[in-house]
Amino acid sequence: MDRQQEFVLRTIEERDVRFIRLWFTDVLGMMKSVAIAPAELESAFAEGIGFDGSAIEGLTRVYEADMIAKPDPTTFQLLPWRGETQGTARMFCDILTPDGEPSLADSRNVLKRALAKAAEMGFTFYTHPEVEFYLFEQPVSPDKPLIPVDQGGYFDHVARAAGHDFRRAAITMLESMGISVEFSHHEAGPGQNEIDLRYADALTTADNLMTFRTVIKEVAIEHNLFASFMPKPLAQHPGSGMHTHLSLFEGDRNAFHEAGARFELSRTARHFISGILHHSAEITAVTNQYVNSYKRLWGGAEAPSWVSWGHNNRSALVRVPMYKPGKGNSSRIEYRAIDSAANPYLTFALVLTAGLKGIEEQYDLVDPTEDDVAELTDAERNALGFKPLPSSLGNALKIMETSELVAETLGEHVFEYFLRNKRQEWADYRSQVTPFELQRLLNTL
Ligand code: GLU
Ligand code: MG
Ligand code: MG
Repeated sequence: MDRQQEFVLRTIEERDVRFIRLWFTDVLGMMKSVAIAPAELESAFAEGIGFDGSAIEGLTRVYEADMIAKPDPTTFQLLPWRGETQGTARMFCDILTPDGEPSLADSRNVLKRALAKAAEMGFTFYTHPEVEFYLFEQPVSPDKPLIPVDQGGYFDHVARAAGHDFRRAAITMLESMGISVEFSHHEAGPGQNEIDLRYADALTTADNLMTFRTVIKEVAIEHNLFASFMPKPLAQHPGSGMHTHLSLFEGDRNAFHEAGARFELSRTARHFISGILHHSAEITAVTNQYVNSYKRLWGGAEAPSWVSWGHNNRSALVRVPMYKPGKGNSSRIEYRAIDSAANPYLTFALVLTAGLKGIEEQYDLVDPTEDDVAELTDAERNALGFKPLPSSLGNALKIMETSELVAETLGEHVFEYFLRNKRQEWADYRSQVTPFELQRLLNTL
């Protein structure tokens, strides 16, 4: 047993923890949890815990249903909302096959493979997500209009608003679980909030995001509210994006930084941006995985619809945020397509491998633009070479299908499963006759 595992066992005893939840994530980004008794933990560390994976989205085919969850002791945390005494703790797990090999269906493993590739090239990948979400009054129901908790807008300080107490409670809980919050504020939509996590290596960030979503949901319930990470819950208001700041480090050195260069971005950074721009349409089905995601991407309100990059440009897909000369180690870029409902493991894996491809192949980078790309005419965009992001899930899947980069990064199993699952979602959506059609057509045709 290693020291981390011993530390976990000791803490469980000292803190009188009664349940240990083993957490992992399915291919669609949903958290799965199985609780074990402390007495089982030693063998869970040694051999993992067997479970039937066939009922979990994308995990196995039926004929190889046995799977093993092996807890990662570095992710041990007490769950504050389960109380101080006789408490509950959690650890994230790696999923293994019965022979002890990493499962090809495990999202966390997909990200680990991509990070290993970055490591081979000498890089560590850091991410810093800005997570947007809505708070609604309870009870919510898909059949009734949603009622946002307030009518605030961007950065508004809403007097005595439920959002203040909520954000304070949520951030306190996140911090108590070792998740540092850098920034939080009211977002542009009524009841919409944003919480930005401090940058960390991408595996930690992805685990933190899974915890974040759970914490936000739990705290909302405690405040008799409902938190939603749906990409576009309200047609008239902005969707919920998850802009993510990205950087590569070589040891302690920020590989994106070069003093004196334009925006102080190094050649590595320029190739990385170019890789992301080049492959962005191929990865969109994963970064924006629901039919509803495209209502955000193509709904204006500062969500990107076109492939471009810039500095002070909120229509751009990739932005160089907070650029000031001399900032050295904080050089980074912001990828703005991702929404708050994406599977963070698969998403970070794809954004990373797209960028690395740009470095490997030394893709040239086009000039930045400060144009509002959404305001240009089609002819202007064509002339300037701005390509669209996919405009629907169906469209995104068609592009993903042909992508070697996505197939290679996700691995065949996840790639095939994802396409199958999402084609079904698209087919189900297309077979609907919507209120829009009835309102437009019923009385006139
Ligand atoms: N809510 C916007 C989006 O969907 C982003 C607003 C912002 O710039 O933070 O991407
Ligand atoms: Mg925002
Ligand atoms: Mg942003």
